Amino acid sequence: MSDVLIVGAGSAGSVLAERLSADERCRVTVVEAGPGFTDPRVGTQITDGLRLPIGVASSVVRRYSATLTDDPERRLEIMRGAVVGGSGAVNGGYFCRALPADIAGWELDGWSWADVLPHFTAIEHDLDFDTPVHGSDGPILVRRVARFDGYTGPFVEAARARGFAWIDDLNGSTPERPVGAGVAAVPLNIDRGTRVGPGGAFLQPALARPNLTLLTDTRVGRIRLADGRAVGVDCVGPDGPATLTADRIVLCAGAIASAQLLMLSGVGPHAVLRGVGVAVEVDLPVGAGTVDHPEWVLPVSWPATYGVPPLEAVLVTSDGLEIRPYTAGFGAMTSGRRDDPTDRPHLGVTLMRPRSRGRVALASADPGADPVIEHHYDTEPADLELLREGAELARELVGDTVQSEPVWSTSQHLCGTARMGADGDHSAVVDPRCRVRGVERLWVVDGSILPAIPSRGPHATIVMAAHRCAEFVAGTD
Ligand SMILES: Cc1cc2nc3c(=O)[nH]c(=O)nc-3n(C[C@H](O)[C@H](O)[C@H](O)COP(=O)(O)OP(=O)(O)OC[C@H]3O[C@@H](n4cnc5c(N)ncnc54)[C@H](O)[C@@H]3O)c2cc1C
Repeated sequence: MSDVLIVGAGSAGSVLAERLSADERCRVTVVEAGPGFTDPRVGTQITDGLRLPIGVASSVVRRYSATLTDDPERRLEIMRGAVVGGSGAVNGGYFCRALPADIAGWELDGWSWADVLPHFTAIEHDLDFDTPVHGSDGPILVRRVARFDGYTGPFVEAARARGFAWIDDLNGSTPERPVGAGVAAVPLNIDRGTRVGPGGAFLQPALARPNLTLLTDTRVGRIRLADGRAVGVDCVGPDGPATLTADRIVLCAGAIASAQLLMLSGVGPHAVLRGVGVAVEVDLPVGAGTVDHPEWVLPVSWPATYGVPPLEAVLVTSDGLEIRPYTAGFGAMTSGRRDDPTDRPHLGVTLMRPRSRGRVALASADPGADPVIEHHYDTEPADLELLREGAELARELVGDTVQSEPVWSTSQHLCGTARMGADGDHSAVVDPRCRVRGVERLWVVDGSILPAIPSRGPHATIVMAAHRCAEFVAGTD
């Protein structure tokens, strides 16, 4: 029996495992569905920060089918990291904090900007800025490219010529001096080509501790509840099925899988659970009102730039658009191949404060079956209007290099499947200490809990939140 059992060694789980096991009296077990660092199936896929190892040959992702839009229905295969390090081991390396206004909008006790800033600084070592709002000795190295490669430079110049300000530092916002609209270099957790994700930076060094155990290739299928309390998990590992028990259980399986696990265990919306024959333990809005960053992709005729990060700069507008000049085509970014002339670099036009809401639901009571993932990106006219304006702005910036009409896509930033909220918030699944309502000794700590999607990519904010939540699970805050 462990003191704490963490389900999922992804971005959040890696940080939580390191933090909790720093107390040598706390026996921590981490259960991860994917392979571990030294597994030959992993190799350099998770450390090469210049590629996203999510292509067809990847052995470090799990694929899900998702519906992007309703009218017409557009489906897309999405991925999540299924490896130690999770999605933070396969992502684009953009490591940008939520804005102070995003955090203020949560309106949660214990989550003011003053509460979270020490955790943003503790997780990072910013190699470009040494100020009170930046970290200088955290495990995750953050830097921006000093000189833009390929067509990123001309894109930045075009934005500036159109009147957008140059932003020195996207992570430099404070409530008193918020960063506004403009164009900027992206803070990257990529150090000279190497991805410095939470798995490698937090979990890997901590594995030397005798009180920390990592079980890889072991998938949890259900949480065991007894008398309103989480007491263990049922899982299947290399030696077959097993039940693991613990005093405290923390779900860090990511926004899709944590929601699925809660529902499989009887914690979720009554109608969804009953629909697939799962007995309801606690009726909570798991998987309802989810949110992601919808993206329109515009292929451009620029030559691709190889051997550089996927994204070096972004343009952010005051109405919540982020325009991303990706450095290469999707094929080159994921597989490294350079011989496909149809594999164009592209611009991403992304809604960072979308109104649309989606859902994650059970399709079956079988833990092996994929859940339903619906984004409903096209259900809010204001979102569509803003995407059209964003595409128009992108065309103005890069002229007739745009090759075709925009194509719907997703940033793969799904959040809010088990939202954190104050007492009396009926849309909340966990309380401001990340405890699942109505179940003792069960926490959720990952992208599921974000009360609203940040105006930036969510990775840095999820890592910060995991660092913050370690205090809650340890009982020291
Ligand atoms: C391709 C891609 C690119 C992205 N690029 C960026 C980016 O550049 N910048 C940014 O800000 N955000 C990016 N994101 C989003 C960001 O990486 C994620 O939001 C973040 O990593 C999620 O962290 P998490 O801890 O919630 O979940 P994850 O990191 O996904 O961790 C979940 C872990 O749980 C494990 N797991 C799942 N189910 C089970 C189970 N049943 N039993 C045991 N283990 C289980 C998984 O294998 C995984 O290791 C990207 C996401 C993807 C998929």
